Amino acid sequence: LRLANIDGRMALLIGDEAVDVARASGDRFGPEPAVVYDQWDTFREWAADAMDGRCPPGAGPAPATGILGAPSPRPRQVFALALNYRDHARATGFTPPDRPSVFTKFPSSLTGPYGHITLPPGDVDWEVELVVVIGRLARHVAAADGWAHVAGLTVGQDLSERRLQFADPTPQFSLAKSFPGFSPTGPYLVTPDELDDPDDLALGCLVNGEPVQQARTSQLVFGVPELVARLSSILPLLPGDLLFTGTPAGVGGLRNPPRFLQPGDQLTSWVDGIGEMRHQLQAPHPPAVGHDV
Ligand code: ZN
Repeated sequence: LRLANIDGRMALLIGDEAVDVARASGDRFGPEPAVVYDQWDTFREWAADAMDGRCPPGAGPAPATGILGAPSPRPRQVFALALNYRDHARATGFTPPDRPSVFTKFPSSLTGPYGHITLPPGDVDWEVELVVVIGRLARHVAAADGWAHVAGLTVGQDLSERRLQFADPTPQFSLAKSFPGFSPTGPYLVTPDELDDPDDLALGCLVNGEPVQQARTSQLVFGVPELVARLSSILPLLPGDLLFTGTPAGVGGLRNPPRFLQPGDQLTSWVDGIGEMRHQLQAPHPPAVGHDV
């Protein structure tokens, strides 16, 4: 399945069409994406029938058009991984950890796959990441069953303001990665069965068309099922929760000289088989137009 959040309502993509899930299901599922994740298993069954053209009579496809939002816009928990690609860990001078190093991105930083992101003062860096959306509740799940608790995958950016993140003596990982707009995800949620090998996806990002990161998720230190197992051994993973799986090498702060995002920069982020996000960075206070100063 391929799903999208269109104007805050869950839509199922069938061919070139986007079907509004709530209308097509007679209000059984949705309209909000968060409600769909809470009923993930029964929704999957209904969606499989809908894909076979067995939508309930009278509830034919209602073409959904509008603005694409984050596929899971109201997660109760957002997990993010530090140092989860060997090449990135090496570039930072750390050895890859023997257990996942986890922080959070606060949910108010979430935004959709296209549009403008405001740069706060400081050094804002890019981090393309594969993002997992949890479907079925996970608690003490074995790695072998990890994928069964995943609703799907999407593209994400873990935007980071490096001065605050590495402030001495008070580093602030979670706050530095939670300015408004710092957690874009999208454009679609793709269920793992849609992908040839969900454990080996190419991903990358470009600044003004120039590739700056490119890797494969097979290079993750802790892959998706292992992360579900390790995290769910400590706390429950809830439907709609997000898991930012970490970024590969190529971030701007580790370049020589360092390079950070500037107003006007175009940031393109992609995961093969899922899609592409496009954002334009903008200065905190765009100059007023049409006014004499
Ligand atoms: Zn990250």
